[in-house]
Amino acid sequence: MLKLKNVSKFYYNKGIIATGFTKVNLELKIGEFVVITGESGSGKSTLLNVISGLDSYEEGEMYVNGQETSHYSEKDFEDYRRKYIANIFQSFNLINSYTVYQNVELVLLLNGYKKHEVKKKILKIIDEVGLTKFKNTKVSKLSGGQKQRVAIARAMVKETPIIVADEPTGNLDTESAKEVIEILKRVAKNKLVVVVTHNIEQMEQFATRIVKMHDGRIIQNTEIKKVKNEPQAEESKYHNISIFNKYRLGTRNTFNIKSKFLLLFAVFFFISAAILAEYSSFQMSEEETKESGYSVGFRDLSEKRILMNKKDRTSFTDEEYEQIKKLSNVDYVVEDDVFIDGGVSIAKGEMSFYGSMLDINNLKEGVNYGRMPENDDEIVLEINEEHYYIKERIDEVLNKTFSIQKSQGLNAWTNESVREITIVGIRTYSNEENNYEIKFYVSKNILNEFRSEMNKNYSTLKIFMNNKYEQYTLEPSDSVPSGTAVVDDEFKYQFKNYKIKNQPLSINVENIYYKEQLNLSITNTYTKSNFKKLTGKDKYDTNRYTIFINTNDYNSLFNKPSYQSSVYVKDEKQIEETMNQLENLGINPKKVTDFRVNQGEIYQRIIKIIKVVVTIVLIIVLFFISYLIIRIILKSRNIYYTTLRMLGATYKNVRRILDIELFINSTLSYIVLLLFIYCVKQNVIHLEYIAKLSEFLHLKEYVLMYVILILMSRLISIKFARKLFKNTAINTYNEEV
Ligand code: ADP
Ligand code: MG
Repeated sequence: MLKLKNVSKFYYNKGIIATGFTKVNLELKIGEFVVITGESGSGKSTLLNVISGLDSYEEGEMYVNGQETSHYSEKDFEDYRRKYIANIFQSFNLINSYTVYQNVELVLLLNGYKKHEVKKKILKIIDEVGLTKFKNTKVSKLSGGQKQRVAIARAMVKETPIIVADEPTGNLDTESAKEVIEILKRVAKNKLVVVVTHNIEQMEQFATRIVKMHDGRIIQNTEIKKVKNEPQAEESKYHNISIFNKYRLGTRNTFNIKSKFLLLFAVFFFISAAILAEYSSFQMSEEETKESGYSVGFRDLSEKRILMNKKDRTSFTDEEYEQIKKLSNVDYVVEDDVFIDGGVSIAKGEMSFYGSMLDINNLKEGVNYGRMPENDDEIVLEINEEHYYIKERIDEVLNKTFSIQKSQGLNAWTNESVREITIVGIRTYSNEENNYEIKFYVSKNILNEFRSEMNKNYSTLKIFMNNKYEQYTLEPSDSVPSGTAVVDDEFKYQFKNYKIKNQPLSINVENIYYKEQLNLSITNTYTKSNFKKLTGKDKYDTNRYTIFINTNDYNSLFNKPSYQSSVYVKDEKQIEETMNQLENLGINPKKVTDFRVNQGEIYQRIIKIIKVVVTIVLIIVLFFISYLIIRIILKSRNIYYTTLRMLGATYKNVRRILDIELFINSTLSYIVLLLFIYCVKQNVIHLEYIAKLSEFLHLKEYVLMYVILILMSRLISIKFARKLFKNTAINTYNEEV
C-alpha cells in the first residue's frame, strides 16, 4: 500500500537546514498495525506528516498503491488525503463548541455527504467508541480519554484505508490510554494503522510491526505478525461539500460561541453606525449651506418663475402674451421684469413697505381684508400674515392713503412722493411659506406710469453737455417743448462766456435690450423765480441741477415695450415641459433659480468632496480596525479552520463557510441597527440628534451601506482564509498548537 524508498525530509529555516529524517525505507500494508517509537526529536512526527501528505518530502520516492508521488501538486496531496488518510492527534483537534455528534458529522459534511444519509452511520460509530450517552454533549465537557475516542470515531467515519495517529495517548492517563488503544485496534480492522508512541509497552501487544527511529533514521524495523494477502485498499468516497452544507456549517458557526457572536455583532454594528452617522452629518451640513443661497440680480427667486426674452431680441407683442397665457402650466405672466426685480417703496409717515409692483389682473385669488380696487388710485397689498404692521396695526394700513416714493437709482429713495394711492385690500399668505416678499397689485395705468421710471433705473444714462459727460438728473415735464431742454441756471458756468442757450445736449440711454440717443438743444435755464413757469413743478429746492425735457421725449427714451418678461408656473415640477413649450414659441426661457448667486455653492462643493474623501477614508480605516478586531476574535477559531482543512476542506470551502458566518452576523447586526433607527424615528427611543441625522438618510444610502458591510465582511473572510492557507496544513497547525 505505502512504500518509501530512501525518502528524506529537510527543513529550511532562514538559511539553516535541519533534518527531519533521512533515507527512510519502509513498506506498509493494509491490515498492519504499525507502532513507531523513538526519543523526542528523532523524526517520528515528521515521518507521519509526510505519510499523511500533510508535509512534503525532498528526496527519495514514496509510492501509494504503486503510484509514485514526487510529482504531486498541493491539490494532488489534498486529493490523496481525502481518499486515503484519517489523522488522530495528540491534542485531539476537535471542535470544542460542537457536540460529539457534530464533530463526527463535520468530516462527512465536508466531504459532500448529505446530513440525513449519514445519521445512522454516525450513531453506529459513536456507539462503537462507547460514547452514545454523550452524543449530544459538547466536546469541551468531555475528559481527555473521551475526547480521543471522539477523534477516533471521526477518523473512522471517513472510511479511509489509512489511519495515522501521532501520540494519541500522549495526553492521557494510563487507564484511558489503554482504552483508546483497544478501541483503535478494534475499529481499525482491515486498515493500515500507523501509531506513534513513546510508550511502547502500551502498544506492544497489538502491534504487527515495530519501527524504531533515532536521529532521523530508522534503526529497527521488526515485523511481528505477517500480513499475508494484502486486502484491496478501498478509497474513501468524497464529493465536494454541497452549498447547503456550507450554509449549515456557516449558520452553526455563527451562533455556536456566544461571546464570539456578540463581539462580531458589536463590531459590525459599530462600523455601520459610524459610517451612517458620519455620512448623514455631512449631508446635514450640505443641506444647511444650500439654504444660504441668495441673489443680487433678481429679487424674486421663486422656483415657479421663468425669465423670458425673445430669441430675436425684439419686444413681446400682445398676441405672444396671449399665447403664453394659454399654456396649461402657466399661472400668470408679468410683462415687465423690472417691476419684479426693481422694487418701489410705499410710505405713510414713518410707515413704509418695500416691494414689487404687479398687475392687479395677476391677483386671481382675491383679498383677505378689504376689497378689490375699483380705480387707478386703489391698490392691494400682498404680505406675510406675520408682518408686524398687519398683525398689530392693520387699521393704520387698510383704506389709508400712501404715496409711491420716487426712486433715485436702484436702492436710494428720496422722500418725494410721486403718486398717491390707497390700499383698499390686503392679501396675506401664511408664514410657513418662508417668504417675506411684499407685492403691490396696481392698475395697468400705474404700471405704465412707472415703467419709464423703472427702465431708467435699469439703464445707463449718459448726458453730454458742452461735449462733457456727467451724471445729471433727468426729469420729464409737460411744460418743456419737444426737442428742447430746460436746465439749471448753474450749468451756464460750464460754458465759455456763460453762453448756454441754444447749446446742444445729447442723451444716451443703454441697457441690455436697447440703445437710444436723443439730441436736444437747451432753450432756457431756470432759477428760483422762473422755475414753476418753465417746468410746471413746485419744489425748486429739491430739483436743483436737473435737466427737464418734454414728457414725450422722456417716454421715447424709457417707456419701451417689454423685452424681458417672466412667467409663473402652477407646478414647478413640470417647469421643464413649460420651458420646452416656450422655446417652441421663439422664446429663450431660463429658470430664475439658475441665477441664484449661491454663496453656499462653493462650500457645498467642498463639503461634498470632503464627504466623499472622509467616507472612503473612514471605510478603509474601519475596515482595517475591524479586520484586526475580527482577526483577534477569529484567532480562537484558527484551530477550527485548520481542523476543517485537515479534514478535507479546501481554501474555497473555508472561505465560503467563514463568509456565510460573517454574512449572517453582519446582516443581523444591520437589521438591529435599522430597527434602532426606526425606533428613534418613531420616537419610541428619544434621541433627538440621531433622529435629526436620520432625516438625511434615504433608502439609497441604507442599501449602499449594507452593500459596503457585506463587501467588508467578504474581504475579511478572504484575507483570513488566505492567511490560513499561506502555509502547509501542518505548519499552520503547528503554529497554533
Ligand atoms: P519527534 O516527533 O520524533 O519528536 P519531529 O519529527 O517533530 O520529532 O522532529 C524531527 C526533527 O525535525 C527535529 O530535529 C526537529 O527539530 C526538526 N523539525 C521538526 N519540525 C520542524 C520545523 N517545522 N522546522 C524546522 N525543524 C523542524
Ligand atoms: Mg512528535
